[in-house]
Amino acid sequence: MDRYAVFGHPIDHSLSPRIHQLFAAQTGEVIEYRAIDAPPAVFAQRAREFCSSGGRGFNVTVPCKGLAAQLVGECDAMAQRAGAVNTVVVGKAGVLSGYNTDGPGLVRDLTVNLGVRLAGRRILLLGAGGAAAGVLGALLDQRPAQLTIANRTAARAQSLVERFAMPGVLSAVALAALRRAQSIRQFDLVINATAASLAGERLDLPPGLLGPGAMAYDLMYAPEPTPFMQWARRRGTDVAVVDGIGMLVEQAAEAFALWRGRRPQTAPVLAQLAARH
Ligand code: NAP
Repeated sequence: MDRYAVFGHPIDHSLSPRIHQLFAAQTGEVIEYRAIDAPPAVFAQRAREFCSSGGRGFNVTVPCKGLAAQLVGECDAMAQRAGAVNTVVVGKAGVLSGYNTDGPGLVRDLTVNLGVRLAGRRILLLGAGGAAAGVLGALLDQRPAQLTIANRTAARAQSLVERFAMPGVLSAVALAALRRAQSIRQFDLVINATAASLAGERLDLPPGLLGPGAMAYDLMYAPEPTPFMQWARRRGTDVAVVDGIGMLVEQAAEAFALWRGRRPQTAPVLAQLAARH
């Protein structure tokens, strides 16, 4: 049986084994997929052991995506630009090829599952860590009118602006400056790619950031609405508020397609996971 895995730390909460088992059942592919705990200090060693014992590919999650980019022998353009790898294919000669399916997964969830048009829109991306870097290229490829990155550490947002270089479209701001701004800029889509929700922390943003008919999208997924989602709901009923479960399933489908050569249908899997609420 072909073996796959997800590496991260902590990893107990991961839904990836369940999602890939559902994909395998749907497509008739016979695979094993398990979660392997990998603190950063031992990630490379555990990933190499997995490959040398016959592993065919693996996913990588927080906090090892940057380390995975250093481990692989080659990267696709999306992973290279992001400096982060979330999917690895083990080639026949043992060569590791790295991909980043987070961006395509988010864009597909927004545009296909949720029917959001991104071209010409004003987007606010909160956070400048691995997840923000991973989704930035795919969001920019959709040609938004503006994409503003707001981060607690402003220098990290600025460095992404320099790396992705799209003058007139891409800009950076400190999260604190966004909170204090005298006149509030409104956005059509606000994406939370910070880790604040993981710790249950609030971002203390002005609700006026969300324009009429806007969408608030939290990359984090949890059985209960995150503090970011609660903040967005206070803006009123004309704002759509969603979590990152759709992105998780879509990025997993992209990885499955890289490994098995066929993309599973995501709607039935999303419906099964939604039943968890
Ligand atoms: P990361 O690389 O550790 O980056 C964390 C980011 O959050 C940084 O920008 C950091 O700001 C910011 N941050 C942390 N705590 C904060 C707080 N209390 N207030 C304001 N900003 C704060 O983490 P990551 O890999 O980017 O992951 C971010 C989130 O995305 C996680 O919740 C993860 O679960 C989620 N995610 C979801 C999916 C999915 O498929 N749905 C995929 C990938 C990631 P500083 O730079 O100032 O430290």
